[in-house]
Amino acid sequence: SKKLAEAQAAGSPAFSFEFFPPKTSQGVQNLYDRMDRMHDLGPSFVDVTWGAGGSQSQLTCEMVHFAQTVVGLETCMHLTCTDMAKVKVDGALSEAYKAGCTNILALRGDPPRETEKWEAIEGGFRYALDLVKYIKAQYGDHFDIGVAGYPEGCDDQKDQDILMEHLKRKVDAGGTFIVTQMFYDVDNFCAWVDRCRAEGITVPIVPGIMPIQTHAAFLRRANGMGCKIPQKWVDALEPIKNDDAAVREVGKGLVAEMCRRIIDHGVLALHFYTMNLAQSTKMVLEELELVSQGGTPTKKALPWRQSLGLS
Ligand code: FAD
Repeated sequence: SKKLAEAQAAGSPAFSFEFFPPKTSQGVQNLYDRMDRMHDLGPSFVDVTWGAGGSQSQLTCEMVHFAQTVVGLETCMHLTCTDMAKVKVDGALSEAYKAGCTNILALRGDPPRETEKWEAIEGGFRYALDLVKYIKAQYGDHFDIGVAGYPEGCDDQKDQDILMEHLKRKVDAGGTFIVTQMFYDVDNFCAWVDRCRAEGITVPIVPGIMPIQTHAAFLRRANGMGCKIPQKWVDALEPIKNDDAAVREVGKGLVAEMCRRIIDHGVLALHFYTMNLAQSTKMVLEELELVSQGGTPTKKALPWRQSLGLS
């Protein structure tokens, strides 16, 4: 689009980092230090995921507050329907609001424990769509509301006709951007973006990128999400799988190449699933020349709304 072309001409593609609440207080402290350092890489925003259950969700709110007010990063808070009575949703939104966070990723959520089937609670929300509508009704345009997209299908739905319809409904109800599940099959992603556009979904699409840390973690996450690994990646990584440094180096090249193709397809945002670690994300950003070897942005990144053509 014209807006995206203008954005591209004016600056670099936007990139963002996702973090999750660590399990221990030492883990939280380490992550806060790392966030502070990763601030210098110049992300347009950082996400904090939402865990099911009381203390984990409280920690999400605290992390958003810390990133936004202490580190000075723009934040996007994930919020789910899992085990969330309306009063808890109200509390979380109010904390985000007070922290100065203006972006919420509205999700149905994973089941509280992995093996279980997802169930709505009494008086709670059932679908991400309900949460989108609720946030919109309570806060109008205060929050940009992101919704999840699945180029390769999600756990309980593989049918893209059905998924597209549900995605479109979330956007029509007030979703202003889409963040996708991780993937490595870039051809499929580009075709999916085209399909979204053909279905009349015009909001920015932010691809979820999982950098490669070790071969075992790469396989575990890709297989866990049911995402396709292109043969070329298997051929490149399998022979060096026991050499972590070599895997990171080759993986960096593969992920960067995928990012370049995504950008060439007109998608000007990259969302990195950091897994709370800096190194492999930083290596990809360096390879893309979005960050210098010294760890600072090569160009001033556009504010994220602008980079997505949202302003
Ligand atoms: P929905 O869009 O509500 O869809 C859930 C299911 O219901 C789908 O099968 C959909 O097709 C179906 N459906 C939707 N609407 C209807 C309808 N009207 N009638 C019938 N069926 C319908 N999980 C967490 O717990 N915390 C996180 O922080 C988190 N972050 C994520 C970030 C991203 C970018 C992504 C892609 C996923 C994330 N998840 C997270 C996982 C997500 O919560 C799960 O994948 C969940 O199973 C689906 O969430 P959703 O928001 O896509 O749900």
